Amino acid sequence: MARKSKEAIERGNQFSRDYYAKNTEACKQMTKAWREANPDKVRQYRKNAWRKRYSEHAAEELARINEWKKRNKSKIALGSSVSLIAEKLAFLEAYGNCCECCGDERFEFLTGDHVNGNGAALRRAGEKFGYDLYRKLRLMGYPKGEYRLLCMNCNFAHGKYGYCPHQFEANREYGLSAC
Ligand SMILES: [Zn+2]
Ligand SMILES: [Zn+2]
Repeated sequence: MARKSKEAIERGNQFSRDYYAKNTEACKQMTKAWREANPDKVRQYRKNAWRKRYSEHAAEELARINEWKKRNKSKIALGSSVSLIAEKLAFLEAYGNCCECCGDERFEFLTGDHVNGNGAALRRAGEKFGYDLYRKLRLMGYPKGEYRLLCMNCNFAHGKYGYCPHQFEANREYGLSAC
């Protein structure tokens, strides 16, 4: 099938604009009816738009989210399409917003960690993790003591080796290490 020429597309767009100008109310009603009949599609469109925006402008989005969160502290809309990010940000805020080991503050790198180091065993036993865990902790009022924030690097090192190289580097820096 031959592609429409630019002129043809512009003619079509102009027709739509004219039609909309003359029949604004009817168009609005039709859109509203379509939205009500297709809630899943509406949700999907919003989700996709959010993902696209978020990946292109992560820093601006984060600032925007923080602004939005400040304004909506009492009613973070956890049922909305931004719920996963909001859930994680709320969790990070409750636990200090930085890696307890190295101080990294970039939210993309941060994750929850079981203080007693048995996260893997708990997960095998069916304990929740990721967003389910963040949600569970929110509903519990973010209890302190059992969980802390670590960046993925430190989380990995602590989990795999039982310590993080940062600990030794810090000790060396402060003259506390034997080496
Ligand atoms: Zn770290
Ligand atoms: Zn570390």
